Amino acid sequence: MISYDKFINNLKDIQVEIEKACIQCGRSPGEVRLLPVTKNHPAGVIEYCYRAKIDAIGENKVQEANEKKTLVKEPMHWELIGHLQSNKVKQAVQTFDRIQTIDSEKLLMRVDRISGEEGKVMPILIEVNAGNDPAKHGIGVVETEALVKKALECKHLKIEGLMTIAPLSDDSSVARKAFATLRETRNMVERALNCKLPTLSMGMSDDFEDAIKEGSTIVRVGTALFGER
Ligand SMILES: *Cc1c(COP(=O)(O)O)cnc(C)c1O
Repeated sequence: MISYDKFINNLKDIQVEIEKACIQCGRSPGEVRLLPVTKNHPAGVIEYCYRAKIDAIGENKVQEANEKKTLVKEPMHWELIGHLQSNKVKQAVQTFDRIQTIDSEKLLMRVDRISGEEGKVMPILIEVNAGNDPAKHGIGVVETEALVKKALECKHLKIEGLMTIAPLSDDSSVARKAFATLRETRNMVERALNCKLPTLSMGMSDDFEDAIKEGSTIVRVGTALFGER
């Protein structure tokens, strides 16, 4: 596990880079939240986050998050950023405070029903395959409006925005184009449905500056904060 001092240094570097990217595109740094991704790292790094006054972390597996939650005593906001299988929905609803990866009507309806049974209103994001990458999960851009419309009708869900993972590529313009597509899709859906989708979760260690320039409000950063997994 990385030392606390090294983590704090990494954190400061990333905060400076987030600020720089915001200034370059005329945004206020307060509009962009850093979500540390703690997957494959020990629960101790979540305690580091708490000490550094960070109140939310991202995990990509239900089981792993659940195990860590029993170890972490500090209050923390747990966000699911990995693909959710339908047989894990109940445990996911019990473990997480927001689910960023809803990408089908079937999954949406299941999370709504189980959130109701658990007496929760679950904040969600819709995961969009904005880079049209066959290797990625996420609903297609053209299907996004219909899924958001369904989500708005769900009593036990609160839809807050969209999330994407950019395609892996040596050419950074590929990721940037996917980020622009996510923002444009959000703007189009907001107009079509007369709703608000303020959250855009996009950008990771290698591409968060470009994501910020395309309107990201949450950057999900693992490696640059905690080192290689
Ligand atoms: C692992 C992961 C991240 C963080 O990736 P890094 O490159 O380590 O910053 C972000 N988002 C998702 C969905 C992930 O699975």
